[in-house]
Amino acid sequence: IASRLQGIPPTIFTTMSALAVRTGAVNLGQGFPDVDGPPDVVAQAVAALEGGANQYAPGPGVPSLRQAVAEHQRRHYGLDWDPDGEVVVTTGATEAIAGATLGLVEPGDEVVVLEPYYDSYVAMLQMAGAVRRPVTLHAPDFRLDADALRAAVTPRTRFVLLNSPHNPTGTVLSRAELSAVAELAVEHDLTVITDEVYEHLTFDVEHVPIATLPGMATRTLTISSIGKSYSFTGWKIGWATGPAHLVGALLAAKQWLTFTSGAPLQPAAAYALTSAADFPKQLAASLHERRDLLLTGLAEAGLPTPTPDGTYFAVSDITHLGWADATEFCLALPERAGVVGIPVQAFYTDHPDAGRQLVRWTFCKRPEVLAEAVGRLTAAD
Ligand code: PMP
Ligand code: GLN
Repeated sequence: IASRLQGIPPTIFTTMSALAVRTGAVNLGQGFPDVDGPPDVVAQAVAALEGGANQYAPGPGVPSLRQAVAEHQRRHYGLDWDPDGEVVVTTGATEAIAGATLGLVEPGDEVVVLEPYYDSYVAMLQMAGAVRRPVTLHAPDFRLDADALRAAVTPRTRFVLLNSPHNPTGTVLSRAELSAVAELAVEHDLTVITDEVYEHLTFDVEHVPIATLPGMATRTLTISSIGKSYSFTGWKIGWATGPAHLVGALLAAKQWLTFTSGAPLQPAAAYALTSAADFPKQLAASLHERRDLLLTGLAEAGLPTPTPDGTYFAVSDITHLGWADATEFCLALPERAGVVGIPVQAFYTDHPDAGRQLVRWTFCKRPEVLAEAVGRLTAAD
């Protein structure tokens, strides 16, 4: 295995989902819904398959999806992007992150990035030869420390990689926190790449795209995908929007990664964004209820857990149960209780101690599944 991949552990999601399957445990680990998105959207994908959308799509994406993405950014956020040149369709947000990184980073460049990290960031930055400059979010409130952010920027900073709503902590960066990032970016003439895949999954707080802040539209690449907003995580259709120089850098890499993304799913994703535009709001309302169900159950099981403002994840501190090490806890839990969670330590690559006692649970499962999981946790000794 090549040196660019050495030291990167296998993704925790594969490990923990395999453990769930092997033990028959309730899987509150990997974040994927157990109910699919809207059937009429699925019907559009079937129609596209049967209607002959089975050959290569254009590299930047089919025009209807690029238009739908541009229209989505305009409708929700007042951001105005040209579907030709300022919008690119990718194979999930994952490929957008990969393409932007490979398209922008020179070996040795620094990237300022929020820790705990969504795990593909660590792998991609290493593969591109980037140096991580972490800005670490600490339990229990996981807020962004503006001084730590400022201290992480150097003359070698290539870009700031943000994620809000934030996986795994559920933090939704406030307008004030984002303004601190924006002011720094303007001051140092920095690019910001922002992963907003959970943009619609917030509860009682507003998601602010950093591209909407003063001076930011011309320096921000915004990434999202169909996976979380529409409960189609298996489709792997994502997109990025921003100024042509950033979209172009991503596309320059993407043409050699995948060339183009799945043709029949793109018109269906366009349909979702335009004709099922209310779905994400309904999903967020339903997740809000399921979040509260999980948190109530966890508290009853002896695990009082802070309330996340967004995503479909909540993070518990297992010292409440007398445990110290979340990796040991999570590896033992399927046998002890028949439940799978994710040790958050896996995402604190640079400061593992900051996540040693933290476990992430997803609440994107049906209420009866959540009830079963918390029942099992309560019954465990
Ligand atoms: N970024 C974050 C923060 C995520 O949680 C996910 C979902 N696993 C992704 C990116 C990947 O999204 P996609 O499946 O669209 O590649
Ligand atoms: N984003 C999901 C999570 O964090 C799934 C990630 C994955 O399977 N790579 O659980």
